[in-house]
Amino acid sequence: MSAPDFDVLIIGAGLAGVGAACHVTRSLPHKSLALLERREHLGGTWDLFRYPGIRSDVDMLTLGYGFRPWRSPDIVARGDKIRQYIADTAAEFGIAEKILYGFKVLSAEWSTTHCRWTVNAVHEATGEIRHYSCGFLINCTGYYNYDVGYLPDFPGADQFNGRFVHTQHWPQDLDYTGMRVVVIGSGATAVTVVPAMASGAEHVTMLQRSPSYVMSLPAFDKVSEFLGRVLPEETVYGLARKRNIVMQRKVYLACRRWPRLSRRLLLRHVRRRVGPSIDMRHFTPRYMPFDERLCVASDGDFFKAVKSGSASIVTDEIERFTEGGILLKSGCELEADLIVAATGLNLQFLGGMQLTVDGVPCDPSTRMTYKSVLVEDVPNFAWLFGYINAAYTLKADIASAYLCRLLKHMDDNAFAVARPCDSNACSTAASVMDDLHSGYIRRAQNLLPRQGSAVPWKVLMHYEKDCRLLLEDPIDDGILSFSGAPVGAVA
Ligand SMILES: Cc1cc2nc3c(=O)[nH]c(=O)nc-3n(C[C@H](O)[C@H](O)[C@H](O)COP(=O)(O)OP(=O)(O)OC[C@H]3O[C@@H](n4cnc5c(N)ncnc54)[C@H](O)[C@@H]3O)c2cc1C
Repeated sequence: MSAPDFDVLIIGAGLAGVGAACHVTRSLPHKSLALLERREHLGGTWDLFRYPGIRSDVDMLTLGYGFRPWRSPDIVARGDKIRQYIADTAAEFGIAEKILYGFKVLSAEWSTTHCRWTVNAVHEATGEIRHYSCGFLINCTGYYNYDVGYLPDFPGADQFNGRFVHTQHWPQDLDYTGMRVVVIGSGATAVTVVPAMASGAEHVTMLQRSPSYVMSLPAFDKVSEFLGRVLPEETVYGLARKRNIVMQRKVYLACRRWPRLSRRLLLRHVRRRVGPSIDMRHFTPRYMPFDERLCVASDGDFFKAVKSGSASIVTDEIERFTEGGILLKSGCELEADLIVAATGLNLQFLGGMQLTVDGVPCDPSTRMTYKSVLVEDVPNFAWLFGYINAAYTLKADIASAYLCRLLKHMDDNAFAVARPCDSNACSTAASVMDDLHSGYIRRAQNLLPRQGSAVPWKVLMHYEKDCRLLLEDPIDDGILSFSGAPVGAVA
């Protein structure tokens, strides 16, 4: 029996996969399309993570799709609301029925003879192997390993008599009311989970090796709420989204240009919120703003919890776990009934799948990305990856729009294959996430694709420049090579 064949196959039904499917359906309704999703539900990150307080840490006007407004005054939204928004989008654009659930893609093989990808997937519940084929393959598997979160090897972890959980694998039956909780970590997850748990627990201690920058963001968009009373909803949405894009960019650029001043302002912002009695060393990172992503406190909830005393911060290192808690290098011991590891992610590229091109294995970590969408020398293949210094969707959205332009250009010119080729040998040692120094990215620099010294191989992480590159510049730029289907290839 021949494998089911599609014009476009998308792997992953998270924010990026569902968004890409909507773009293809809207722009190229004649294309046959399917999505292969490993889990039993869509939503990706926003379905997997269930820790208390899970929410976005950028505003929803920019994390939401450009083509489907986020219609709610929440600036920062809860995980379940984001999951529902993705599900509603999939239903509205007829994508929901195109998702094949439970299939983990293991490998994809490109054949130049047939101008087709063969995608091999396992149905994880039954072990059945299925094969699919497609003309264009879009990888939307995110950037981390879904099976295991990152957990450092803590000496004595098995000695601890209480409960020990990781934020990536949150047990839904966990009742922490009245418990003494220690949260290990200082990133966005820890900053979210600490205030959320502080209201129910006896006390929450955030144990950090080193501090991160934390910034308060209002939970509601009062300006848009006011404008909504006098202007049409679409106009208010358009204005607010533009405002947020510009503001995000300006904050990022200001932090990069004037790091010392930005640092002073950020620390002053914290001091004003936590009051004079809190030791500012717990809030003073060793790095400059945006060397790592800023953490956000929704309506300052994290600062309020610390100020009220329901949560506290300890900056120290772990010597070992004990029966009753954690012994620190300073000699102090933190007593705990529950320890939460908010220790982050294990980076993973392409959802763990293997790529081959005409039988030759292709290691993406040795290739550059073209316009941060296609992969050097890999035909008809895209990897959608969002911004790390702004909302993820801003980039994923314009990358999908670019793919639709590319597919249309190929149709109009009867091209079957598009392959980005670097004839100027401009590859550098830098990975596509070279700018960010967060722990999980440093640990995986050697797994990620490379970037080049110049556009289109250089990663811009700049919305306006990317808009020009992806939405306006000609598709045929002499770097992307096109060819027709060989005689006898599957049409
Ligand atoms: C806790 C947390 C909070 C975050 N908050 C923000 C935020 O506030 N703002 C922001 O911009 N970004 C945030 N991010 C980044 C976030 O990952 C993106 O916002 C976005 O959700 C990523 O979408 P995606 O579709 O690319 O990937 P994912 O959401 O990771 O979805 C990938 C999908 O691919 C599927 N998949 C993976 N491998 C395979 C395979 N081999 N076969 C088949 N299917 C596969 C997965 O099951 C999943 O459904 C956050 C990330 C985390 C972990």
